[in-house]
Amino acid sequence: MRFVFMGPPGAGKGTQAKAVAERYGVSHVSSGDIFRGEIANKTPLGLKIKSYLDSGGLVPDDITVGAVAGRLEAPDCANGWLLDGFPRTIGQAEALDKALAKGGTKLSAVVDLEVDPEVIVERMSGRRVCKCGRSYHVRYIKPRVEGKCDACGSGLVIRDDDRPETVRTRLATYQKQTSPLIEYYDRKGLLLRVDGSGSPDEVRSRLFEQLNAFVSE
Ligand SMILES: [Zn+2]
Repeated sequence: MRFVFMGPPGAGKGTQAKAVAERYGVSHVSSGDIFRGEIANKTPLGLKIKSYLDSGGLVPDDITVGAVAGRLEAPDCANGWLLDGFPRTIGQAEALDKALAKGGTKLSAVVDLEVDPEVIVERMSGRRVCKCGRSYHVRYIKPRVEGKCDACGSGLVIRDDDRPETVRTRLATYQKQTSPLIEYYDRKGLLLRVDGSGSPDEVRSRLFEQLNAFVSE
């Protein structure tokens, strides 16, 4: 099985992607992890990636695609893989298709985890963090005393990244970037839309059920 997993920031994509990878016995491959690995090992590719990231730029498609394609040839990917955080552009998707076709394979399914943007805003804007590193949520993970950390008693704060206006901007950017990609996979008959609302357990059962039906068709 070869999967691509998509979903907006704050949709719980990482958790569900891991669950799917475990269920199907495939490697969970995240583009962020690949970059971090190459950089940590100081490979020629890692040094290039680092220079782009250090200058605040985006890593160009050909470098990203090269890093991902190399990772997918590793022995632990022989039984299949799930890509998380890649592809992000049509160019990357086409390059991935080409690389797979060269090896005589193709994608099994592309999962798009869909969550109403306002639900994500509500989830994220309720987060509270403490300087000691613990995090809370005004509805889901309440501290014993409102506004105070259970562990150290310090005042809890909202991270700038979690403010509603910041979250809305990030979601709009994500949507603008990925909607062509979603259409691309839909046209190929590979797209599986999964409702990502509800608890992580609810989402997981829904996802497994749909994915099972999709890949056995
Ligand atoms: Zn604390």
